[in-house]
Amino acid sequence: MSAAGVLYVVATPIGNRSDLSPRAREILASVDLIAAEDTRHTGAFLSQLGIERPFISFHEHNEHDRVAELVQRLTDGARIALVSDAGTPLVSDPGFRLVAAAGSAGILVVPIPGACAAIAALSVAGLPTDRFVFEGFLPPRGAKRRARLDALVSEARTLVFYEAPHRLADMLRDVSAAFGAERPAALARELTKMHETVYRDTIGALASAAESDVNMTRGEAVVIVAGKLIDEAPLDGGLPLTGTLLAALLPELPLSRAVDIVSAITGERRNAVYQQALQKKRFLS
Ligand code: SAM
Repeated sequence: MSAAGVLYVVATPIGNRSDLSPRAREILASVDLIAAEDTRHTGAFLSQLGIERPFISFHEHNEHDRVAELVQRLTDGARIALVSDAGTPLVSDPGFRLVAAAGSAGILVVPIPGACAAIAALSVAGLPTDRFVFEGFLPPRGAKRRARLDALVSEARTLVFYEAPHRLADMLRDVSAAFGAERPAALARELTKMHETVYRDTIGALASAAESDVNMTRGEAVVIVAGKLIDEAPLDGGLPLTGTLLAALLPELPLSRAVDIVSAITGERRNAVYQQALQKKRFLS
């Protein structure tokens, strides 16, 4: 091998084997080496597809040590595929250091896109997706988790969380307590698998249901929570006039016309009213 190699970052299915793309299959069948989070897991999956290639283990505990070796092999001309146990590598999975180091070494890094639980869940949650923030896993312990949630209370974008099954009920209860029980939310579990279920309700209702229904917390899950509606600045008397006016006018008028009128009546800055109107419109529509 002479020319520099290529690092392929290959998404694999999150449950349904048919979600492996033909391109991903071709790449995995032809590379010199597959860097896999769990070589036995990926090896078994690929041998079902008739693919047998050399493996090297690459997980959160050895990522740091493996990077130099893999970059050297890439520099020597190897074509290497990076995969995680499921879904897209680097999304709450190892790979960031390798991709950064390969990029810095001038190696071509090529994405082979496919399944990602966060995106699959967003696509069916029925919550605003024009802006969202991926929060991954919250801290596992109560106090740190609550502190992180407190820091996110004012986030206006839709929030996407991953959670392990044994922590899901506690996590939902903490999110409900921190954000208020009325926030619209969705719980997407076992996506692409036999028991795939998507629950859409308020976060408070989801938290209560998870406490009484053990099936809800079985298997893998993504939790999606609507962002905070931007608060209207209360007038002297504390009336949320801006929000009330927008709620009345938005169904009747074009957005910018409603914003002009509300801004004129309340004296609130047009841009602030406009942002609030955009948010309200997402929930009204
Ligand atoms: N890299 C993966 C991806 O692209 O989605 C995520 C890996 S992360 C270690 C595992 C978490 O992803 C699980 O705890 C769960 O929150 C979520 N997840 C993975 N597969 C899922 C599925 N089939 N249904 C729902 N959530 C899933």
